[in-house]
Amino acid sequence: MARTAVVIGAGIGGLSAAIGLRRAGWDVTVLERVAGFRAVGAGLVLQANGMRCLDVLGLGAPVRAQGRPDMSGGTRRSDGRWLTRVAAGDLERVLGTSAIGVHRAALHEILLGVLPEGTVVTGAQVTTITEDGEVGYDGPTGAVRTTADLVVGADGIHSTVRRLMWPDVAPPVHIGVRAWRGVTQVWDGDLVAAITWDRGAEFGIVPMVDGRVYWFAAVNAVPGGPVGNEKATVQARFGTWHDPIPALVAATDTMLPDDLACLDEPLPTYVRGRVALLGDAAHAMTPNLGQGANQALEDAIVLAAVADRSDGLATYDAHRRPRSQQVAKASRAIGRFGQQLENPIAVAARNTVMRLTPPRLALRSMARYADWHPPTRT
Ligand SMILES: Cc1cc2nc3c(=O)[nH]c(=O)nc-3n(C[C@H](O)[C@H](O)[C@H](O)COP(=O)(O)OP(=O)(O)OC[C@H]3O[C@@H](n4cnc5c(N)ncnc54)[C@H](O)[C@@H]3O)c2cc1C
Repeated sequence: MARTAVVIGAGIGGLSAAIGLRRAGWDVTVLERVAGFRAVGAGLVLQANGMRCLDVLGLGAPVRAQGRPDMSGGTRRSDGRWLTRVAAGDLERVLGTSAIGVHRAALHEILLGVLPEGTVVTGAQVTTITEDGEVGYDGPTGAVRTTADLVVGADGIHSTVRRLMWPDVAPPVHIGVRAWRGVTQVWDGDLVAAITWDRGAEFGIVPMVDGRVYWFAAVNAVPGGPVGNEKATVQARFGTWHDPIPALVAATDTMLPDDLACLDEPLPTYVRGRVALLGDAAHAMTPNLGQGANQALEDAIVLAAVADRSDGLATYDAHRRPRSQQVAKASRAIGRFGQQLENPIAVAARNTVMRLTPPRLALRSMARYADWHPPTRT
């Protein structure tokens, strides 16, 4: 009889784990607290490591069709001057596959679409869990208890699974940054993919396949600040930055605000008994390296590859914890060096160092965390 897995959370990490485990012969149920999926959200950069994971799941081609492959790009100052530049195709030449910007909803739909009907139970909020694989949830028809050979906590940054099973671990902390994500209407102006840094602020531009543009912006800010006319707030902060930033903001109807948070204290283990944590539940990181979802994909692929072994969860922990925690640490560090840096002298020094860095070295550091390959056996 097939071994059973319950995956808690139908985000990018949970759905990928469900697909991988099914391909490895597991009987999988996904419990998701929202009652239905809406095409909300903004964009996401999938890097070479994440794309390789999607290839393992057999989904590389449809996802690539949803994204624009590497364009030229780099890092800029708010007056438009380039600090580093990368030519179109350079990252692909180094890594063997291109990074792409996709709409999160399009990726989610592709993942959801390959799971058989009934695999994902929506409106199912998990409330209890044990090391022996007992899961309790409030479902569409009332309270339910179930047991599985494997329970995967893929329930995001504010994970219930982590809170219940890892009660000593500190909750996520705000990092003092407010971010916004937006997707423009169809855009026919000039465009170069770039991240622009100024004192305590950044703006990123990611072209999408359908002519729209995904952008993200972030500023240093005390968490819990006023929420209101987000567009006016973004325009006030970024309205004088280089073209086409003001026009991109003007061409966006809705922007999603977020007080950024991350897990500051690395978890001592990702597994307890039959329970494994994955994605943001295990290692919620700042978005500065664009690796959160890519790491969730790596987790999913490794878990699916090893879960049926007698030492499967210990192997998962040994492979995934050092790598994902190193990426999380690097992401935090790059945020402090980039977006969060405010002191004008430090900013000037950073910019000089970046301008003087040979393009080959800049490219290598950009490729560093995306240079990962899935295990060969799935
Ligand atoms: C501004 C910003 C930009 C980003 N850009 C990038 C990027 O370019 N590239 C990248 O790789 N990453 C990026 N990320 C990070 C990325 O979005 C996350 O790392 C990723 O979405 C995490 O996926 P997940 O599946 O672990 O969690 P989630 O996507 O949060 O999914 C968790 C799911 O669990 C469900 N759930 C929660 N609690 C329960 C419960 N008790 N019972 C049942 N279900 C539950 C939730 O409803 C949700 O559907 C960015 C993040 C931010 C904030």
